[in-house]
Amino acid sequence: MKKEIIKIAVAFALFLFAILIKFQNEWINNAIFIVSYCIVGFEILQNAVKNILKGKVFDENFLMAIATLGAFCIGEFPEAVAVMLFYQIGELFQSYAVDKSKKSIASLMDIRPDYANVFRDGKEERVTPEEVKIGESIIVKPGEKIPLDGIVIEGKTTLDTKALTGEAVPKEVEEGEQILSGCININGVIKIKVTKKFGESTVSKILDLVENASSKKAKSENFITKFAEYYTPIVVVIAIILAILPPLIIEGASFQEWLYRALSFLVVSCPCALVISIPLSFFGGIGGASKMGVLIKGSNYLEALSNTEVVVFDKTGTLTKGVFEVQKIEPIGISKEELLKIATYAEHYSNHPISKSLKKSYDKNINEEQIITTQELSGLGIKAKIGEQEVLVGNEKLMKEENITFTKCEEIGTILYVSIQKKYVGYILISDKIKDDAKQTINGLKKNNIKQIVMLTGDRKNVGEVVAKELGIDKVYTELLPDGKVEKVEELLKTKSERGKLAFVGDGINDAPVLAISDIGIAMGGLGADSAIEAADIVIMTDQPSKIIDAIKLSKKTMRIVKENIAFAIFIKILVLILTAIGLSSMWQAVFADVGVSIIAIINALRALRVRREMKFLNK
Ligand code: ADP
Ligand code: MG
Repeated sequence: MKKEIIKIAVAFALFLFAILIKFQNEWINNAIFIVSYCIVGFEILQNAVKNILKGKVFDENFLMAIATLGAFCIGEFPEAVAVMLFYQIGELFQSYAVDKSKKSIASLMDIRPDYANVFRDGKEERVTPEEVKIGESIIVKPGEKIPLDGIVIEGKTTLDTKALTGEAVPKEVEEGEQILSGCININGVIKIKVTKKFGESTVSKILDLVENASSKKAKSENFITKFAEYYTPIVVVIAIILAILPPLIIEGASFQEWLYRALSFLVVSCPCALVISIPLSFFGGIGGASKMGVLIKGSNYLEALSNTEVVVFDKTGTLTKGVFEVQKIEPIGISKEELLKIATYAEHYSNHPISKSLKKSYDKNINEEQIITTQELSGLGIKAKIGEQEVLVGNEKLMKEENITFTKCEEIGTILYVSIQKKYVGYILISDKIKDDAKQTINGLKKNNIKQIVMLTGDRKNVGEVVAKELGIDKVYTELLPDGKVEKVEELLKTKSERGKLAFVGDGINDAPVLAISDIGIAMGGLGADSAIEAADIVIMTDQPSKIIDAIKLSKKTMRIVKENIAFAIFIKILVLILTAIGLSSMWQAVFADVGVSIIAIINALRALRVRREMKFLNK
């Protein structure tokens, strides 16, 4: 960028010199103009030629080259140089703006750890995060970034999760807790047992996601590319007609005058403002969203969000905390202790929130050798072989499917029926809590003109209905297996209008397929399964459903900016084009208008990056 500034400064000085000092021989002035022009415009001419050779004739380089070379031909030396100078100043400003917005996203996303302190042979060693293997222990000191996902095995500390979640309040972690890479360790020294390779750690996934976000183009971006494709040739044809026709038909019209108008016309016609500001607005919107802990995987999803009509929620882990508490243990023929133990053993390898709650409640060590096989049956439960015994843990459907005779329990809550060797041995009643911001989310969505809010759950009818009623959700479908959820979403997709979009919000456990088929799949990133983060289009890092409202607001704001820029740029362009054609605007004014529109559009676009504090709805 420095080189560019020097180039422009030198050319500008020469330009001023040639304007202010009139030499006897006019050609000395002209020669200085040409030198100045070459300094500032050589690259443009070069690019124009290169692109023509590549078959891309009508781009802005071409327009600038033709217009300025034409000005030389009709003897308008100062004009030719000025146009090129202003154009380059505009370009410089643009690249500054793009650079700035990229940097501000990059700093937000400054979560890439540079090293890890790994324990090997009793010594601490500093290696790159990629070199650390699963199962190794690493030490993280205050001020360092957590390099890999893992479990804290020693010490406790406070974490700064702002870069990941947008959450300003630090998070406490202690022994036994999971820890995500990308957070910053604030005060304590902790030892972590690594559970994921660097490539699969949260930090890598998020970086990938952000880096690829701009490659998925929104419809409005594609519109601009298409627009420029047709627009430029049309403008060139009009310019040619403008140069040739009037002098032939209008009496006394000079060829030189009309050629000048035609060339000015070309200068104005350059669609730079649109071409640069639209992608920049989307880029800003995606950056703004990541500031609040919402990762959006492409401009197309940001655009789609503004047309959301139907929002479908999963229950467990999405609207409820997914942190079940064991309420009651009702054994038949065995002790309470044994019932809890056998269920916990069966659930040992499951990632389902239910499994986590059992592990919390059963605080003895688990002998992994006893667990021969386990099989997770989505939406049903677990089938496992513990020692010599076949164990089933799951819901009513599972018991029926396996022909187990059991007594139905009518209590409110999620019920885990347990059988050993096909014999029913009792149930465990667990219950979940609704997330703090769930109710506000539903109210907020209704206020934001969402036409339909639906809840889908694999849980029992009575639990699902109680939750839906409490939250004010009108439509709820319960006891669904994963493919049942897919069916329901397919039905709902048919009920929306053509432009409207359906968003599905889930935690990814038993709902990755639905995330994939909905128009916008939104996953809970902190709590959710890895498969969800991959299948989803938008990831909420804080697990707060209310962030959806912020995201919808932000997408509407971004779309408003995009539309403003399109309307503004096209309006000014057409106005100046007309003024130029009828001779009311000079080439100077034309280029000023062009650069001015670009700059205003860029400043407007950068607004999308700014997320106001009050937009952070209920940020506890
Ligand atoms: P939701 O749709 O509310 O997120 P899921 O589809 O994850 O719920 O699970 C639906 C039901 O399937 C649970 O309420 C539970 O009865 C049963 N289930 C699923 N996974 C397990 C498991 N690991 N252990 C026991 N029961 C399970
Ligand atoms: Mg779920």
